[in-house]
Amino acid sequence: MARKQRTFTDKIAKGTGPRGEKCPVCGEVIQTVMTVRPYKSKNGNWRYRKAMANVCKCNSKEVLVDKVDIS
Ligand SMILES: [Zn+2]
Repeated sequence: MARKQRTFTDKIAKGTGPRGEKCPVCGEVIQTVMTVRPYKSKNGNWRYRKAMANVCKCNSKEVLVDKVDIS
């Protein structure tokens, strides 16, 4: 299960945008990161929602506010 998930993630990472693209506003290289946010489903179970986000200095505080480790 975990192995499948990793493969899926790798495919997304490869297919996302040109590498080294710079933000026209701050001039920093835009990084595509996977954000994972927990949310409570209707039946009371915690689930995780994954989303890809393009991050540079402009929005890193908003996007990564609940992210502990940025690699
Ligand atoms: Zn920027």
